[in-house]
Amino acid sequence: MPSHNSIYVICCQCSKSVLKYWAHTKGRKNLFCSVECCNAFRTRSIMQHVEAKTVRMGSCLIWIGNRDKDGYGRLETMGRLPRRVHRAVWEHHFGKIPDDLVIRHTCDNPPCCEITHLIPGTTDQNNKDCISRDRNSYGENHYKTILTNNDVLNIRSRLTQGESTRSLSMAFNVSISTIKSIRSRHTWKNI
Ligand SMILES: [Zn+2]
Ligand SMILES: [Zn+2]
Repeated sequence: MPSHNSIYVICCQCSKSVLKYWAHTKGRKNLFCSVECCNAFRTRSIMQHVEAKTVRMGSCLIWIGNRDKDGYGRLETMGRLPRRVHRAVWEHHFGKIPDDLVIRHTCDNPPCCEITHLIPGTTDQNNKDCISRDRNSYGENHYKTILTNNDVLNIRSRLTQGESTRSLSMAFNVSISTIKSIRSRHTWKNI
């Protein structure tokens, strides 16, 4: 029975509700029902965290856990400083990110951690991405459409057949600059 000095907490690993002494939970971010669950959580791979805390939206895999002030997913695992999820996902697949590179989103969607949308780039390229992103969201039109891989392939093939960037921008409800950066492979380099 709960008493004044104990509370129910949810185990971070198995989601079971367990009764804990209040004093034992103070200042702890992650709580567990057992030592086994604590150890399992500690050794959980980054991809298990991603699986547990993301939803698929179009071709993007959106982090639904905590986000930082810039909208990037924040991964808080025990014994490590918080990291940006998309960076951790990229490192899981390809190894350590070189110091002079940043991991960019081809989908312009900071909480996305879909590995095929993450490409390394220079800080300079990333700043350019941010500028075009701001222009898109604060301009006269709001382009909210998320393009799928198929859309991009489709756009590329229509471009090679001579269709104009303007007509494609209307057909896919995205900005002309989005179409241009698809053409120049500034974005969507991966496909
Ligand atoms: Zn548990
Ligand atoms: Zn994405």
